[in-house]
Amino acid sequence: MPEAPQIRLIVKDLQPFVGQKIIKATTQEKDFEPKRLEGETIKEILVFGKQILIRLSDFTVRYHLLMFGKVKINESNEKGKLRLGLKFSKGEFSFYAGTIYYIDEPLDEVFDWTTDVMNPKWDATKALGKLAKHEDELISDMLIDQDIFNGLGNKGVNEALYRTKVHPASTVGALPINKRKEIIKEAVDFSFDYLDWEEKGVAKNHFSVYLKKTCPVHGTPIKHEEIGKNGRKCHWCDECQKVYA
Ligand SMILES: [Zn+2]
Repeated sequence: MPEAPQIRLIVKDLQPFVGQKIIKATTQEKDFEPKRLEGETIKEILVFGKQILIRLSDFTVRYHLLMFGKVKINESNEKGKLRLGLKFSKGEFSFYAGTIYYIDEPLDEVFDWTTDVMNPKWDATKALGKLAKHEDELISDMLIDQDIFNGLGNKGVNEALYRTKVHPASTVGALPINKRKEIIKEAVDFSFDYLDWEEKGVAKNHFSVYLKKTCPVHGTPIKHEEIGKNGRKCHWCDECQKVYA
């Protein structure tokens, strides 16, 4: 599943299309009218969590990659269902799988940028306040909650918990406030580290627990089990990470 740092890199690669006029728009999505896009000039290409936003004259296209979304730039040989293909006088790009919609409202009315862990408007205090309303929940379930930590994925959840020595089965209420703050900070820091590694193509070497066999500190086996209400796989070291319950 693509996570926010990877989507930020895609959006960076799409920037040359800003200011370009759309010559042809195609889709295999029956509920999406592509003709509306033809003749429009792209004003801005933005990211919100795991979504790509293409801002046009007075509306926006919202593409959510979900689990299997793929973006192809200047190549269109992908087998998945085409959600949107845009052609310009110079180049083209296509979105496969995921979901696509139009947004007619101003973006600030639709998106709360303060919930995006990688947005300059990210508000850690707000996240701390939201956590306080879910004291009975597991911290791993809360970290993946996109209304609180928008853009954080499985890697971010597990690596942030490893960095803060907190077991994924810990309950929010049992975590001291300072520990919660530390987890929030590491979730954000990890996202930026991940972006940096991904840019250099070395991300895989830098994970400590995600899909890893042994703990980098102890050399003991990393546990990979489903934890929490969503049956999401967690990755942790029993020696490093304490259960707060
Ligand atoms: Zn360990």
